[in-house]
Parts: sequence; C-alpha cells; structure tokens
Amino acid sequence: MSNKSALITGINGQDGSYLAEFLLKRGYEIHGVIRGGSTHNTENINHLLEDDKKINLYYCDITDSPSIFSIVSSIKPNEIYNLASQSHVHLSFSNAEYTANVNALGTLRILEAIRSLDLKCKFYQASTSELFGKTDGSPQNEETPFYPKSPYGISKLYAHWITKNYRESYNLFACSGILFNHESPRRGNLFVTKKIAKGLSDISKGNLDVLRLGNLNVKKDWGHAKDFVEAMWLILQQDEPEDYVIATGVQKSIREFVEECAPYFDISIEWTGEGLDEVGINKNTGKEIIKVDPKYFRPSDIDCVLGDPSKAKNKLGWCSKISFKELVEDMCINEK
Ligand code: NAP
Repeated sequence: MSNKSALITGINGQDGSYLAEFLLKRGYEIHGVIRGGSTHNTENINHLLEDDKKINLYYCDITDSPSIFSIVSSIKPNEIYNLASQSHVHLSFSNAEYTANVNALGTLRILEAIRSLDLKCKFYQASTSELFGKTDGSPQNEETPFYPKSPYGISKLYAHWITKNYRESYNLFACSGILFNHESPRRGNLFVTKKIAKGLSDISKGNLDVLRLGNLNVKKDWGHAKDFVEAMWLILQQDEPEDYVIATGVQKSIREFVEECAPYFDISIEWTGEGLDEVGINKNTGKEIIKVDPKYFRPSDIDCVLGDPSKAKNKLGWCSKISFKELVEDMCINEK
C-alpha cells in the first residue's frame, strides 16, 4: 500500500470518481477539487465521502489562480491529476472562450503553481483523441500529427503542449494521456452513449416517444472509464515522463451502439430511409423511435476515430480489459 497523496481536479466527473476509487484502494490520501456555488455536486463521489475514507474536498474553480496556488501549496501532493474540464465538444462551439479558459489556461495555472512552488509532484494532463481531429482513417498513435476540429480540441491542444513545454523547460514530471472515448454509467447526460442508454430506457418505460441523434455513422473507439483511469496512474509510475495514447483499438459506430443497447430494453431496431430521413423502428411495436436530427451534428465532425495503444501496451503493460459488449451492458443495466 502506498502512503502517497494525490490531488484530483474534476473529482466528481466520470473519470475523477473512478480514479479516486482506484487510488483509495492503493492507499492514497485523496484531495479533490469541486466547484463551489450555492449547490455543490458530489453525486459520483458521495459513496467515497464516508468518515473512514481518506478523501478531502476543496472548492476551487480552475479559472481562479489564487485558489489553485493556495490548495497546491497547502497539500503539496505527490501526484496531481488534472481532469477538470469543460469536456463537451458540441458545447465548446457555443462556449469557445470559456472552454479555452478552463481547459487551456486552467492547465497552465496548475503547472505554474507546481513550478513556482518548486514542488516535486508528478502531473497528469487529460489529453484527448480530439487532438487528432481530421484523420485519414488509420489508427492514431503518439506520432500522428494533430489537427483538432473543435474549440474543445484546440483548448486541449494548448494544454497538451504547455504540459510538454513545462516538462522540457523546467524538468517537471508532467505527462499527458491522450485518451480516446471512454464511457460508463457515470457519463454525463449530454454525451451520446449515455443519451442512447437513457433514451432507450425512457422509451421502454413510456416516458419518451422519440430519441433524436446526430450522425449515426460516426465511428468511435469506446472503452470503459474504469480501465482508463488505471492507465492515468500507470503513466505517473514510470521512471521517465512521457505521453501515451490510451485506446481500445476497436471501432464501433453510433448505430452499433444503439443496436447493442436495444435488447436490454426489449427493443428490436430496424433502420429504414437514408441520411437525414433515416429512422429507427422498434419492430416489436412498429413505432418510429429514433430520428436523425441535424441539431446534433457538429459544425465540423470527426467521423472516424481509432487509437493505436501499442506504446501503452509495451511500456505500461496496459490494455483495455472491459469489452464493448460489457461496457454497453454496464450502462444499460444502470438505466433499467
Ligand atoms: P466530466 O465527467 O465532464 O468531468 C469534468 C469535471 O471537471 C467535472 O467534475 C466538472 O465539475 C469539472 N470542471 C469543469 N469545469 C471546471 C472548472 N472551471 N473548475 C473546476 N472544475 C471544473 O469529464 P470526464 O469524462 O470525467 O473526463 C475527465 C477529463 O478527461 C476531462 O478533462 C476530459 O476533457 C478528458 N477526456 C475525457 C474523455 C472521455 O471520453 N471521457 C476522453 C479524453 C479526454 P462539475 O462536476 O462541477 O461539473
């Protein structure tokens, strides 16, 4: 068991909550950042906040340098995991400046706190496959050039490069995990996987007539968040600070995600029509339950995402263990 301490920004997010569970099992003392306000949201970590657990929460918005400095200097953690982010790609088109402030400058603020306080702590940055953006369809690895296609991806590109820059300029143990999509029952409601699982559940309960989705043909490399947080930790346990692509290496379309979810809710899908006119019919009831809605198309979409996790496999000994089927099962059973 470890006697290390870790600071997790975004601890109540999907990944933050799984990472906190993972580190608690390894004996870490956990410090977590949540946003303040008249209400505070701890729904993903309430089960970890019992008396005997070593978890301490701080109110801090990563747009606020003084509070970051104050928290980092008082805790002096061994490891910092920067998971806080305006993480929704579609929303970033309408909130581009805010997205940059949180995702890009927020990362700089934390690195600057580590540097100026001369801390020896290790730093993990939550980079993303959205850095690659435009792709020729081949699997993306650490050598693939970046071409982000959203304000979210561009804000994360700054964060990625400033992390590398602080590593090279100031000799910080600062690394990025370039994570491909990962999902779970704790995924936010606006993300397509959660929207599908919840939407089909609502339809089966009679609470929703039609589930509206964007481009059904977009292909993603989807893993389970529980697997991916282990990779974050492994990246910081290496002798040398490096960046890693973390992915399953398996690609599925949004259409396939729907088809895999449907049986959990006694729905049998048949597709008919094309393009914007395509609909999904529940063969059991004859009702149109899925429609394509251009509202959910991104101004510039990435339609083919596939990661090559070879470096992570060879150097970290990491590979994704939870299959696509098991991921869908976990999400759907949670919605029953
Ligand atoms: P998430 O569920 O959206 O969690 C993000 C967390 O950041 C939330 O807890 C949120 O707080 C917090 N946050 C947002 N703005 C903040 C601010 N200004 N100050 C402090 N905290 C703030 O995201 P996730 O799926 O766990 O992802 C974790 C990280 O990995 C993110 O940086 C994301 O961009 C990145 N990433 C995710 C994926 C993926 O597929 N999930 C893939 C690649 C990279 P509230 O709880 O108050 O909203």
